[in-house]
Amino acid sequence: MTDHIRPKPGILDIALYEGGAATVAGLSDAVKLSSNENPFGPSDRAKDAFQRAVHKLHRYPVTSHAALRQAIGEVHGLDPARIICGVGSDEIIHFLCQAYAGPRDEVLFTEHGFLMYRISALAAGATPVAVRERDRTTDVEAILAAATPRTKLVFIANPNNPTGTMIGLPEIERLAANLPPQAILVIDGAYAEYVQGYDGGAALASIRPNVFMTRTFSKIYGLGGLRIGWGYGPQAIVDVLNRIRGPFNLSTAQLDAAEAAVRDQDHVTRCREENARMRGWLAESLAEKGVPSDTSTANFILARFADEAEAGACDLYLQGQGLIVRRVAGYGLPNCLRITIGDEASCRRVAHAIGQFKAANAANAAAAAAGAEGAEGAEGQP
Ligand SMILES: *Cc1c(COP(=O)(O)O)cnc(C)c1O
Repeated sequence: MTDHIRPKPGILDIALYEGGAATVAGLSDAVKLSSNENPFGPSDRAKDAFQRAVHKLHRYPVTSHAALRQAIGEVHGLDPARIICGVGSDEIIHFLCQAYAGPRDEVLFTEHGFLMYRISALAAGATPVAVRERDRTTDVEAILAAATPRTKLVFIANPNNPTGTMIGLPEIERLAANLPPQAILVIDGAYAEYVQGYDGGAALASIRPNVFMTRTFSKIYGLGGLRIGWGYGPQAIVDVLNRIRGPFNLSTAQLDAAEAAVRDQDHVTRCREENARMRGWLAESLAEKGVPSDTSTANFILARFADEAEAGACDLYLQGQGLIVRRVAGYGLPNCLRITIGDEASCRRVAHAIGQFKAANAANAAAAAAGAEGAEGAEGQP
């Protein structure tokens, strides 16, 4: 009697996560700009470490992640005891929801925030609450107004995905200081390394008992395929999360590659600088073609079109040119396309293609207007 077998409340409300497309039918050499991956890949040192791990495959990995936590602590100036590592930062987000939010609890995130917050909240049986943004930017006042005695977690990505915008640390501090006492503020720093001089919220998470930070090796470190993330915050929260972490959640290859990656900060610096250079170029080039975007602080820009129809038509045109970008209607932004900053050749290709699309659109509109005038004129003939 299968109708007696049902998942917990909330599970069937979860819409399946759709990743960025990776292929275009009939094309073998499409350029993927849909998942905010680093076009330069990981550090050579991370690749070497991954390869060497092949000799240890018969051994269980260490459960403490001590060497990786030590390396992260040294590089970021953080206490390794307050670091927890997971299968991507997705797993850390999941741990937070599993440990702190359940039925009747609320999990807040911003209107155009990362889809995993909703998924993890529902998986924990909690109620997801989306808070409106102001001009596609996190609005601290709106979050404070939405917080209630049931609010257990507040997730903000800073910089945010898919908007690329960010708010300053004083604003985040004000948010942390004014949330109700039972709520944890989680600062998702998936793109923090792209912002020179920004600590991702580490200093706040060091001193405040209600602030937790998540980070990832999937973006600037170029290791999205390997799945490694980490979190840092109050010892009490880290201790709670470790109780539900699987002892062998990370493999030896993940641990070794991540440790080598974090120790190669020259690679991070090179990638950040090249990203900033091409991001500025692409944003300016698209603006000249009539496609504006908010100032991005991450490794993508959110290109805005007149409406959903134009964004959809541009997406199809780009696919035809072998360029894959991300539709973000699922994030409440139907008139936008999120474009990852690729290498210089990819940026030039996508800018050129969008220019061609806009020019063809303008020519069609002019022809249609002339046609309509012509038809009116014909009707007006005696
Ligand atoms: C990409 C991304 C992550 C990273 O997820 P991983 O599980 O670490 O790959 C986390 N948060 C946001 C907002 C992201 O865009």
